[in-house]
Amino acid sequence: MAAKILNERDIEFMLYELFDCESLITRERYQDHDKQTFSSVIETAKTIAEKFFLPIRQKLDIHQPTFDGKKVHVIPELKIALDAVIDSGLASATADYELDGMQLPPIIANAANAYLTAAGSTALGYISLTTANANLLEAHGSPTLIEKWVKPMRSGQYMGTMAMTEPGCGSGLGDLTTSAVLSDDGQYRISGNKIFISGGDHDLSENIVHLVLARVKGAPKGVKGISLFVVPKFLVNDDGSLGNDNEVALSGLFHKMGGRAHTSTALSFGEKNGSVGYLVGQENLGLKYMFHMMNEARIFVGSMAAILALTGYQYSLDYAKDRPQGRLPSSKDPHSPMVNIIEHADVRRMLLAQKAYSEGAYALVLYGTQLADDEKTAPTQEEREYAHLLLDFLTPIIKTWPSEYGPKANDLAIQVLAGHGYINEHPVELFYRDNRLNPIHEGTTGIQSLDLLARKVPINNSAGYSATLQEIERTIVVANGFPNLVIYSKELTEALTNLKETTQFLLSAMATKNIDLVLSNSVKYLELFGNIIIAWLWLKQGIVSAKAIEKQPHKDDLAFYQGKLQALQYFYRFELPQIYLWSKILTNLDDSSYSMQTQWF
Ligand SMILES: Cc1cc2nc3c(=O)[nH]c(=O)nc-3n(C[C@H](O)[C@H](O)[C@H](O)COP(=O)(O)OP(=O)(O)OC[C@H]3O[C@@H](n4cnc5c(N)ncnc54)[C@H](O)[C@@H]3O)c2cc1C
Repeated sequence: MAAKILNERDIEFMLYELFDCESLITRERYQDHDKQTFSSVIETAKTIAEKFFLPIRQKLDIHQPTFDGKKVHVIPELKIALDAVIDSGLASATADYELDGMQLPPIIANAANAYLTAAGSTALGYISLTTANANLLEAHGSPTLIEKWVKPMRSGQYMGTMAMTEPGCGSGLGDLTTSAVLSDDGQYRISGNKIFISGGDHDLSENIVHLVLARVKGAPKGVKGISLFVVPKFLVNDDGSLGNDNEVALSGLFHKMGGRAHTSTALSFGEKNGSVGYLVGQENLGLKYMFHMMNEARIFVGSMAAILALTGYQYSLDYAKDRPQGRLPSSKDPHSPMVNIIEHADVRRMLLAQKAYSEGAYALVLYGTQLADDEKTAPTQEEREYAHLLLDFLTPIIKTWPSEYGPKANDLAIQVLAGHGYINEHPVELFYRDNRLNPIHEGTTGIQSLDLLARKVPINNSAGYSATLQEIERTIVVANGFPNLVIYSKELTEALTNLKETTQFLLSAMATKNIDLVLSNSVKYLELFGNIIIAWLWLKQGIVSAKAIEKQPHKDDLAFYQGKLQALQYFYRFELPQIYLWSKILTNLDDSSYSMQTQWF
């Protein structure tokens, strides 16, 4: 069975009907482009995905990277596939022309990447991390650092990593121990151990540029004493040729349940004299700079989770249309032909849930991607600041909701295929394994929920929180203009009232009660808020669909829009109401987890 990797009609819908990407060409930065350029970029990505990534997807999963004592090796086809992405310009699609980029809107690059991710999953991680590394250096590095490291990363000559995690320090970066010492020759020497570093070693590029968080000797304890350094695998001479080995040694290669295309490494820095590190910006501001990369990576993680959910949905949908099995409860005749499993309402339930999760999640990550663009390129300063406010507030939800519901969607894709989904003849089990990383890296779900409730909601007089509610309320007003959407705008209004009451209660409890108890159910708050955000984005999709149906579209389009309205209905009936249970747990300050004693387990 040849399944589609993604539903192209839906990607078109998201880009041009939901987010009106065509209007971006009125912005100065994008004035050279038009819808045709956008389409051809996406088409190129699709072609590369089908030609280079899809054929090696399973091979990448089975043939895990190996270490020969000197270097980590990946299957050679991976380099060919990544080179195809780099040569097409897609790797630096959003970068400035001066840095050999295409200056494309990030939302278009996201859609192009969707095809590559759907076909190659974590293989694209090498490029995404390199791009995010280069973007950080471009924003915070000196011209010398940019010249020396960013250009070769943009061209694919070097690749980049993000080296934060240590054996004793994952979620709580404030405790990291990797050290930096300013030596007599005026250079920083870095020493310490990092683990789980994605792309930390491989044979795909001639050099690897690690962005390493370390503490300069004598710096304050905690997050205020962390600095950021460029630590290359090989030093680079003034003429651009590779110099000495920089004492970045591979101390281990991790084997994982998924994401096997992307090497996961334990690295040891500077065991003898210290690895040479080049300071980015100023000392002790390292975490602030790293947030540039982490925030980008968080949208990327959300995107990956949503895309894996979309492709799993598409695969199980195509399968369900083709697999004959059983008969409907109303059909008693054993001589009657079997029906395809999509005829069974329970299979449709699983497909509908996947559609609601994956298309809701993808709408959210595209919204986040557009905000990240708006904060830089929107026409007025006021619009740019507003986009920043919304994005800053929503980042924990953009990262987490798709990461939590993406694997749920993939789990349902396996269930649709049942036994055939559990074996590796079909890729749905692989999607699940690959997707399962997303609630873990770039801040676990627990950490994101604490960030949302304890930091993002109260900060700045709750400005980001209030702006988000205002956006939702605007959509409700528009939806009220469509008779068949009024029921949903009413439900969303009630959900918002509940959210406001719950938030008010928690803000006051955080100020007056035992903070550990109040925050003990923060994940439920994130889920509550996340479900409302997705319900809002489904209402937006409903508005576009209702408008389109009024224009009496062609029958295929009519079916597409009806499918959107059905998924909207599903989300409002099956998913949104769960918030009331979560709100009760939160406002009762339920202490089930808080008061559980270690010795009672
Ligand atoms: C495949 C893979 C790729 C990765 N890539 C990179 C990379 O490229 N660069 C990099 O630097 N790191 C990377 N990481 C590391 C990743 O970001 C960490 O695994 C993650 O931050 C969690 O840290 P930890 O695994 O040490 O878990 P821990 O921090 O030990 O957390 C364990 C559990 O405790 C909970 N917890 C911890 N602290 C708190 C708290 N204060 N309050 C409530 N709950 C808490 C967590 O939510 C989690 O459930 C990667 C990890 C993996 C598995």
